[in-house]
Formats: sequence, C-alpha cells, structure tokens
Amino acid sequence: MTNGAHPASVVVVGAGQGGYQTAASLRERGYTGRITLISGEDALPYERPPLSKAYLKGDADESLLWLRPATYYARQSIELVEGTVTAIHPAARTIRLADGSVRDYGHLVLATGARPRRLAVPGAGLRGVHTLRTARDAAALRASLRAARRAVVVGAGFVGLEFAAVARESGCEVTVVEARDRPLARAVSARTAAHFARLHREKDAQLLFGQGVVGLHGDRRGAVTAVEVSDGRRLPADLVLVGIGVEPRTELAAAAGLPVGGGITVDSRLRTGDPYISAIGDCAAFLQVRSDSRLRLESVQNAVGHARLVAERLTGSHHAYGELPWFWSEQFSTTLQIAGVAEGHDTELVLGEAPGAFSVLLFRGDELRAVESVDRPGDHLAARRLLDLGVEMSPGDVEAPGFTLKGHLADRGGGSRGIGGISRRPRRAPVPDPRT
Ligand SMILES: Cc1cc2nc3c(=O)[nH]c(=O)nc-3n(C[C@H](O)[C@H](O)[C@H](O)COP(=O)(O)OP(=O)(O)OC[C@H]3O[C@@H](n4cnc5c(N)ncnc54)[C@H](O)[C@@H]3O)c2cc1C
Repeated sequence: MTNGAHPASVVVVGAGQGGYQTAASLRERGYTGRITLISGEDALPYERPPLSKAYLKGDADESLLWLRPATYYARQSIELVEGTVTAIHPAARTIRLADGSVRDYGHLVLATGARPRRLAVPGAGLRGVHTLRTARDAAALRASLRAARRAVVVGAGFVGLEFAAVARESGCEVTVVEARDRPLARAVSARTAAHFARLHREKDAQLLFGQGVVGLHGDRRGAVTAVEVSDGRRLPADLVLVGIGVEPRTELAAAAGLPVGGGITVDSRLRTGDPYISAIGDCAAFLQVRSDSRLRLESVQNAVGHARLVAERLTGSHHAYGELPWFWSEQFSTTLQIAGVAEGHDTELVLGEAPGAFSVLLFRGDELRAVESVDRPGDHLAARRLLDLGVEMSPGDVEAPGFTLKGHLADRGGGSRGIGGISRRPRRAPVPDPRT
C-alpha cells in the first residue's frame, strides 16, 4: 500500500460527530473492510449542538440526540466498542484500550475531539460548578438549572452565551463574566459582538467585561454560593457554568510520537506524520491549501467535512481538504450564521437596516473573507456560495446602491441554480494539493 487507500480495516478513536461520519461515509462509499468505532462515552454517537440549545430547554431524552439508532450500526457492520484508547503503537499498528485489550488496525483515524478548559482557581471543584461538552454534562446542567435561581456564566463564548439565553428564558437570574472587553471576541466582528451583548442585556442578563474570576465560594456542604471576580465583587450563584473554551485531545497522538501543536498536526489531506494514521475534527490542526497556514476549527461542518475527506481517501479518491467553513449559533430567538473565517480582516461592511437583522461582510483588502448573518439566512446561503466559488467582490461593490449578496451572485453567474441548490453540507470541487 503506497497511498494508504483500501486498508483491510479502519479503527476510529472517538465516536462523536467526526468519528461517526467517518464510519458512515466509508460504508456509503462501498468500503467493505472491518470498521471499528471506539466510543469513550457510554452513549450512541450523538450531536452536541442541541446540548446548549433545545436539549437544555426541554424534557427530551438523550435518544433525540442520536445521530443514528443502534440498529444502524449492526446493519452497516460497524462495530461500536465502548472504551477508552490508552495507547497507540504505530510500529505494530495496534492500539490498547483501558481494559488491557489490544486491537490491530489497517488505518487509524483519530477523532478525539476536545475537552473543556477548567478554571484554575480555588473553589472550582464545588458542587453546582459545571462544564458542558457531553450529553452527561448537559443532563446534569439541565437538572441543576431547574432548581437554580442565580446562574453565573464564566466566559462569553458560544457555549456560555447559548446557556445564558436558556437560563434567562427559564427565569434564572444570569450574570456573564468575561475577561475580554466583549463577547465572542475570538469568533466574530465587533459589530456582531455588540449586537449579542445588547440582546442579552435586553433580556436582563448582566454582562461583566474585563473581569477575571479569582475564586469560587461555597457553603459548608460544598455547594457553590458565589463567584469572586477581579474587582473584588462577589456574585451570588447557585449554578456556575464554566465556558472558557476547549483544549484539543492530543495526548494519545503525542504519546505515540506524532507531531502535535495546537491540535494534532495533519497535512491538507488530514494525514499525520504516520501514513497509517489520520486525524480529523476538533482535535486536528490541518494545513489549509489556499493560505498555507494551519487551522483548527470547532464545528459540525468541519468534523463532517474532514470525515468525508478521509473516507474518500481511504476508498481511493485523493484530494486536499478545501471546504468552506461555516457555523451557526442560536441565542433566544436569534440565529447567527457565519460563512468563512475572518482571520485578520481590515474592513467591516454592514448590510441590512432592520434592528436585529443584518449581515457583516469582512474583507481583507479586496478579498471577502467571511460573512456573519444575524437572522438573514438568505445572505448566509449566498455568502457561502460566493465564498465557495471564490466570486470576486470588493468593498466598492458592496457600497453600490441596491447591492445584495444574492444579486451579486446572480450577476457573476453563480445564482439561479446556486442559492436554492446549496445543500446543508456543501462539497467543494477537489483542490489540487501542490505538496503531494
Ligand atoms: C454544547 C455544544 C454546542 C455546540 N454547538 C455547535 C453549533 O451550534 N454549531 C456547530 O457547528 N458546532 C457546535 N458545537 C461544536 C461541535 O459539536 C463539535 O465541533 C463537534 O462535535 C466536533 O466533532 P469531533 O468528532 O471532532 O469531536 P467530538 O464530537 O467531541 O467527539 C470526540 C469523541 O472522542 C471521544 N474520545 C476522546 N478520546 C478518546 C479515547 N482516548 N478513547 C475513546 N474515545 C475518545 C470523546 O469522548 C468524544 O466522544 C457545539 C459543541 C458543544 C459542546
């Protein structure tokens, strides 16, 4: 085997969004070898986005989160194994599980995701202090929320703000503490950030920016009672959600001697330094062909796109990863959709007048890099198509009277069939990879 295609067996470590999709796409592409999907959680593969949205609000049980019912895996001959992989032995092409068992692989896919960062302050282990990554976390948080009166959210990222919205809607007093000077600082433009800050304040959430958490206080029974912030204030709380970002789960790869740096290092075809091991999704820092820089993303679209590319490679179709990143978030009844990655933009232009419904177009020089749409789904779809096709568009075009993204797309020939025809997970034309 020189190019790694058609291995006799594929073992996938991690049965989250990316792991599940790898197995499913392999079978869709007619792969007939053995597939083993190893899950570190005691649940069927499930989707995480509802954990901070619909699942948290309702009474739904976990089965609603499942990507597929149990019968699917049996029918597709996908062996689902519950267990934690503790070591990879690349020379022998084997892995070891926590129960001591050893399995061999023809190709290994690391889809280990990420884990929430913990607060490194006194009191972080008190009862009532939560993080949110797994269905189990969400079930515990949902139960706590039912009894809570005052919630403090540490970190104004997507998970923190989505939880804050649900907590406010359930009648809880909410304070969000953020070390930076605005919410979603790593992810969106100042304009979009200001909109979400306003939205939460209108719903009577307190937002404290430029404040770190220095400690958590509890009662004699070990339950959290207050969060102390850097200016000395103590914020009463009977529930705390820590949403200060995640760390990619790279330890297995690092211990096996694979290159790691801000994620498991992979090339534009998602191969690690070992030709028999790939890495995908939240844990993978991949080489972008177009910009020649490395990127690690945390999104469903990225995990699914990576998984499909690896399945294609393992079944003989070789090309580099070049899908356009996109993402969404829901807070109260507002939907934010992002197409592209802003990365060092220098110009922000806004489309839309109505309060609460607008798109921010982010340019670097004359190049459109990303579009953030708030309750403008039509703009989002057009933006995805424009960015995906690489349609030229400058800030000057946007300032022309009557400009719309959809109109610009139609003018440049990407329109009529294009907008309505975009699937939820767009595929890009194969991108030639100059490195291989
Ligand atoms: C609350 C929440 C809300 C989100 N909302 C959105 C959203 O609105 N839109 C969006 O695009 N994205 C959202 N995301 C992000 C999205 O869910 C992730 O990007 C996606 O799940 C990544 O898929 P993955 O397969 O890389 O990792 P994961 O889905 O995290 O799966 C990794 C799996 O690997 C397992 N694992 C790790 N190490 C081992 C080991 N050694 N042995 C066995 N198993 C192991 C883990 O237990 C885990 O089950 C959200 C995430 C969260 C937590």
